[in-house]
Amino acid sequence: MTLQGLTILGATGTIGVNTLDVASRHPERFRIIALTGQSQLDKLAEQCLRFAPRYAVVLDAAAASVLSAQLAAAGSATEVLYGADALAQVATLPEVDMVMAAIVGAAGLPPTLAAVRAGKRVLLANKESLVMAGELFINAVRASGSVLLPIDSEHNAIFQALPADYHGDLSAAGVDKIVLTASGGPFRGWSAAQLAEVTPAMAVKHPNWVMGRKISVDSATLMNKGLEVIEARWLFNAPPQAIEVIVHPQSVIHSMVRYRDGSVVAQLGTPDMRTPIAHALAWPDRMDAGVAALDFASLSALTFEAPDTTHFPCLRLAFDALNAGGNAPAVLNAANELAVAAFLDGQLAFTGIPTLVETALTRFAGQGSDSVDALLACDHEVRAFCRQKLA
Ligand code: NAD
Ligand code: MG
Repeated sequence: MTLQGLTILGATGTIGVNTLDVASRHPERFRIIALTGQSQLDKLAEQCLRFAPRYAVVLDAAAASVLSAQLAAAGSATEVLYGADALAQVATLPEVDMVMAAIVGAAGLPPTLAAVRAGKRVLLANKESLVMAGELFINAVRASGSVLLPIDSEHNAIFQALPADYHGDLSAAGVDKIVLTASGGPFRGWSAAQLAEVTPAMAVKHPNWVMGRKISVDSATLMNKGLEVIEARWLFNAPPQAIEVIVHPQSVIHSMVRYRDGSVVAQLGTPDMRTPIAHALAWPDRMDAGVAALDFASLSALTFEAPDTTHFPCLRLAFDALNAGGNAPAVLNAANELAVAAFLDGQLAFTGIPTLVETALTRFAGQGSDSVDALLACDHEVRAFCRQKLA
């Protein structure tokens, strides 16, 4: 088996750690070329000592000198780089075959797009990239011939439930609808009064998945499902009306595809991100992921209900942004990132998140989105506006 060179953008996060766990089960398949992390330098240092990547990338010069000293003292040969350009550099090296894009938020867009443009196999966890710049991103995938594989469990499930030769025409594939499942988050069924009292500690605890703080809050507001609707639109060339959301609190069915003849094809599994990660790392092969087998006898029930967009308006706002097109999804994403950070800092109530996102959409949506630079400028402008609203 030929060794595949792997760069992990966001190695210290939940997805990054799971990726290293899966890759390390198959040393004959993968060689780690670069690991990147924003903070948690001790964790990154440990990873470098264990996996001996050629490069490690951190945010700035100060962090780089701390990490270099730590690694040198331990006899490591890993070279430490820093800054946004270095992220793009390690995503595009000739010895890199695959890039796991697992930085959270808009910061993930430039290096992920660089990997796409360099024709790498891109394992996409960073959904915010597609939300911000879906059309430009997908055009770049087509132009370079990059292979884009979804890591988000829902999209990975849909990818598996679509025909193996699916090329972006749902109708030709006999598909009626893509059905995204949603857990409903930790506050499903809660009243407006209860939601107003939600604290960051409550919101970052997801019932079925262990995830980073930002995506945990997104899951609690249902914005995560909204971002995933937009992600599905671009990954599968699915018009908004062909995307359906159903709440399935057990997170055992990861998503489904409805075919014209009445068949529904679903992908099921124990909720563990190592399954979609292993699927994408090995595709089109299959390899062991270290995941517990799904035990049907111990599942008491699989239940379903319609999403509640009255108490959780973020899902509706995301559909609105998708339908509006242009820069609207980028506005939605920027306002949401800022609102979630403010909520986690104790500056904004949980129920203030959709309000701030809606205010930003009203103010900014409807402008062009013809280049990545324009979208990044829009992202900055929306964040500044939201900061001012919160001051
Ligand atoms: P996390 O917060 O645990 O990790 C984020 C990683 O990004 C860390 O390595 C951090 O150092 C790095 N990072 C953060 N800000 C950065 C910046 N400005 N510049 C460079 N690096 C930066 O998040 P996560 O849960 O691993 O999620 C990562 C991405 O995967 C997100 O886009 C999320 O939506 C997506 N995703 C996660 C899961 C999950 O189960 N955790 C599932 C589906 C999709
Ligand atoms: Mg998901």
